[in-house]
Amino acid sequence: MLAAVYCRVSTEKDDQINSLESQMSYFLNYIENCPDLTLFQIYADKGISGTAVKNRTRFIQMMEDAEKGLFQVIITKEVSRFSRNILDAVSYSRKLRNLGVSIRFMNDGIDTSQPDAELRLSIMASLAQEESRKTSDRVKWGQTRRMEKGVVFGTSMLGYDVKKGKIAVNTDGAEIVKNIFNKYVFLHMSASEIAKELQNEGIKTYTGKEKWTPSVIIKVLKNEKYCGDLRQKKTFTPDYLTHKKKTNKCNEKTVFIKDHHAPIISRDLWEAAQQELCSRSHVKKQDSGRSNKFYFSGKIICTNCGCPFSARKKKGKDGYYTVWKCLNNQCHVRYQIRNDSLMYMTAYSYSLLNIQNEKLTEHIHSLMNMAEIQLTGTSTTSLKQKKSEIEELKIKKLNIIDAYATRKISEDEFMALKSKYDSLIIHHNNEIENLQKTQSVKKLKNTTIKKYIDKIINYNNITKSIIYNCIEKVHAYENGIVKLKFCHLPQVFEFEIYFKKSKQYTT
Ligand SMILES: [Zn+2]
Repeated sequence: MLAAVYCRVSTEKDDQINSLESQMSYFLNYIENCPDLTLFQIYADKGISGTAVKNRTRFIQMMEDAEKGLFQVIITKEVSRFSRNILDAVSYSRKLRNLGVSIRFMNDGIDTSQPDAELRLSIMASLAQEESRKTSDRVKWGQTRRMEKGVVFGTSMLGYDVKKGKIAVNTDGAEIVKNIFNKYVFLHMSASEIAKELQNEGIKTYTGKEKWTPSVIIKVLKNEKYCGDLRQKKTFTPDYLTHKKKTNKCNEKTVFIKDHHAPIISRDLWEAAQQELCSRSHVKKQDSGRSNKFYFSGKIICTNCGCPFSARKKKGKDGYYTVWKCLNNQCHVRYQIRNDSLMYMTAYSYSLLNIQNEKLTEHIHSLMNMAEIQLTGTSTTSLKQKKSEIEELKIKKLNIIDAYATRKISEDEFMALKSKYDSLIIHHNNEIENLQKTQSVKKLKNTTIKKYIDKIINYNNITKSIIYNCIEKVHAYENGIVKLKFCHLPQVFEFEIYFKKSKQYTT
């Protein structure tokens, strides 16, 4: 009979007993002592866990050769090396038996050509399976303990490098992360708008792709690592036989550590982003569709019944459009306001406010600077002050030299005063340097802020931000009069609705 040998070689270096050489000499010795056997081929798989058959290329080859009838018997060491899955072990032994191939499990003393083999195999295989489950539990337990100690499992991502279980900020990536959060929370941009903008700016994704998808943006916004926290075991392996990962939806406890590493964005910003994510997904569920309409939601009030107007989609000549209507079906206010009319009313009213963008930007700026000076206590005046203090100290130094030369003070007194003045000068110089540094950072910050402000208040391009931030209420009256009020402003803008067109009157 021609005999095939199957062995699985251990991955552990010091596991000499299971090395390829020792297994080979064992099998060769065995075949030599069986006069009815001749070696056909040795099939050896290296360093792969026995639980999944998929990765065992030599094993698969052996099964193919068995189908071709190239050998009649397979010799292998034990059930756990052949297969750790009871179903697999039994099904392979049956399949092989149908092909006229038997298996000899040496250590377990099972020969599948014998009638009691299947029963014995089942017992052995189920023991092996239990062992595999225990090992899997042990590995999991060890991993969980290490997670609790703060060891990071997983790979690097946008803004963070993960190496040997440690996480560190990647400055280039961190800038993109901050950018995404700011755009989402402060500019009220949608994930797809942010994706488009990043793409247009030629910024590549973490994986080096040019195309940014909204889902990548959402993933970034939801990642707690950016505010310094760490949640692990987000995925888990429910089946230790297939090793397939699944999203952990409360199946197993996650490991959470607050303030685990250096954050990229503040906790406040992260929490604001989570709230936005939650409320925006809520709005989306209510009325699907891609438009700006939800920026008016809750702001249009029916003066007849007090209910808010709700949005609905309508099909027109050139595609879909959105209209607003009193939510209350019993209300006799039945007219509809088109969403684009509302956008137009907002833009028109905004233009009437005659806001001088340049001046407003400057004003906001100076207010912010004042706030910052009050917080940090630094300004250009303190820089001047420091410089004049240094000049004074230099004069004092000259004076004590005079005093020492004219013997008004002793050498000891002179030395003590000199070192005191010197160290003060060094101290002031250091402070000046720090001040100049923070000022250059501030300059950079200011230009970024300026860009943001410009974007928000540029009325030629009426943005959702204006509606979202500046419109307080829109009151809809029975007779088709619509009154629009901006936050913090006394003016009310009045419009009259004519069927589909809207005409403007202002007061
Ligand atoms: Zn109503």
